[in-house]
Amino acid sequence: MSEPEKDDTDNDEYIIVCTPVSWGKYVNPGTIEIMCAKCGDPIWISPASVQLAKEKGAKAHCIACVVAEVEPGDNVEPPTAEQRAEVIATAKALHQADVEKQTPH
Ligand SMILES: [Zn+2]
Repeated sequence: MSEPEKDDTDNDEYIIVCTPVSWGKYVNPGTIEIMCAKCGDPIWISPASVQLAKEKGAKAHCIACVVAEVEPGDNVEPPTAEQRAEVIATAKALHQADVEKQTPH
């Protein structure tokens, strides 16, 4: 039996997965454009993710870099409550924009 992963996190990098700017405009208020800490491509980072990065000393990586480096045994954290709220707000805004696009004026 192995020990609980108490000390294992010391050597781990905390990475926040970010959407590439090339995917389109992110509508969540306060979202800013930064560079992927690994490849330098432009990515979006939301206010909740900026906060998480400060709290955890985390780096922001683009999806392509995360997919290339993630291993099956890696710990993948669920989004924080603040990140989930941003995802829901963004989904609602995108849905509303879609409804308005399809509604005849
Ligand atoms: Zn990258």
